Amino acid sequence: LLWEDGRVAGVVAGGEEIWAHIVIAADGALSFMADKAGLRAPLAPDNYAVAVKEVYKLDEKTIEERFGLEEGQGAANLFVGAVTKGLFGGGFLYTNKDTVSLGLVVGMSSLMKSRPPIETHSLMDAFAARPEVACRIKGGDLKEYSAHIISEAGLAGVSKLCAGGMLVVGDAAGFALNVGITVRGMEFAIASGVMAAETANEALERGDASEALLAGYEKRLREIFVLKDMETFRHSREVLEKERLFTVYPRFICSLLGSLFTVDEKPQASLYQRAMGVAKQHMFSWQSIKDIMDFRKL
Ligand SMILES: Cc1cc2nc3c(=O)[nH]c(=O)nc-3n(C[C@H](O)[C@H](O)[C@H](O)COP(=O)(O)OP(=O)(O)OC[C@H]3O[C@@H](n4cnc5c(N)ncnc54)[C@H](O)[C@@H]3O)c2cc1C
Repeated sequence: LLWEDGRVAGVVAGGEEIWAHIVIAADGALSFMADKAGLRAPLAPDNYAVAVKEVYKLDEKTIEERFGLEEGQGAANLFVGAVTKGLFGGGFLYTNKDTVSLGLVVGMSSLMKSRPPIETHSLMDAFAARPEVACRIKGGDLKEYSAHIISEAGLAGVSKLCAGGMLVVGDAAGFALNVGITVRGMEFAIASGVMAAETANEALERGDASEALLAGYEKRLREIFVLKDMETFRHSREVLEKERLFTVYPRFICSLLGSLFTVDEKPQASLYQRAMGVAKQHMFSWQSIKDIMDFRKL
């Protein structure tokens, strides 16, 4: 960052100085700019997950057949439990027009604490080899392999949003929400970009890029869904970081379905008795009741 009179006044990129009335930091989850401007706390592994993604090229007809789709339709599958060996996170498999995206998200601190150590790339290899996944990517040409980090801190991970001469948007500001069934960030990035542009426009018209004027950016974000949703889902991390969500509950669902669908040579108990037997084994505990009470916060 370039500074002038205690305010941000530009950036240095590739050794070149670029001076500006206002800098809008849109440099993603690791935002070195927000860091250097002192707008956010140092990065901590508890607040982030690492994501890896593979993109396989397949022709459109093959994708439609494998996912049971009509022309123009798409499908998204989510996975939880064994795919991360019970660590915080999950897997995804979704269709694009003529590619299929396969990936995993795993909490950084869960990975760091895992004993014996678990590495993301070996989880990814095992995930791609699972029968329900392998049959869908079979013969696909691996076009991309990428890794990224995602903020899991929710509202607690939102940085200070402006300094004199500077605004922060999107992932750089910590606008990311994992609510278990969806990961959100793109619409926050777009909306915060628009609000930052409006604020910058006003600042330029008034010839005032002080922190006091740029604070109008946060006010704008409070009036639309960005900070409203971050606030509504402020408990998502404390609910989702329960280890049981990735161990006990997936095992319960698999055991329940296994028990209900298994027919062997022995006389069978009623469906209700079998379901209760599995529930007793996995679910009947004070901890489960506490978890259910906590889910109400989501
Ligand atoms: C696996 C995964 C799945 C996701 N799924 C969803 C989803 O389903 N729905 C959803 O809404 N969101 C999802 N997200 C989140 C979404 O991708 C992000 O919230 C969104 O991309 C944030 O946009 P951004 O522009 O703020 O940051 P980014 O998209 O990270 O863009 C930042 C850009 O800045 C560049 N940059 C960084 N530093 C510098 C520098 N020093 N100089 C020049 N350039 C720099 C980077 O290269 C990058 O191109 C997902 C994220 C991941 C990783």
